[in-house]
Amino acid sequence: MKIRVNKDRCPQNHKCPAISVCPKNAISQENPFSLPVVDSSKCIVCGKCMMYCPKKAFEKTDD
Ligand code: SF4
Repeated sequence: MKIRVNKDRCPQNHKCPAISVCPKNAISQENPFSLPVVDSSKCIVCGKCMMYCPKKAFEKTDD
């Protein structure tokens, strides 16, 4: 199980609010107009980012 960002749901027009709530510092974003990226080597799939994203862009995948 992994978490990824659905690029069709993320408007890529603001700083990702989930970055500061991730307990593993697994989310990065180059700038406020780019897609946030989840580092699967750090992510523990806790789901916090899924709760904080206003666009529900974080989703679990089976990869
Ligand atoms: S599921 Fe948890 S650990 Fe993984 S990116 Fe989201 S907040 Fe970070």
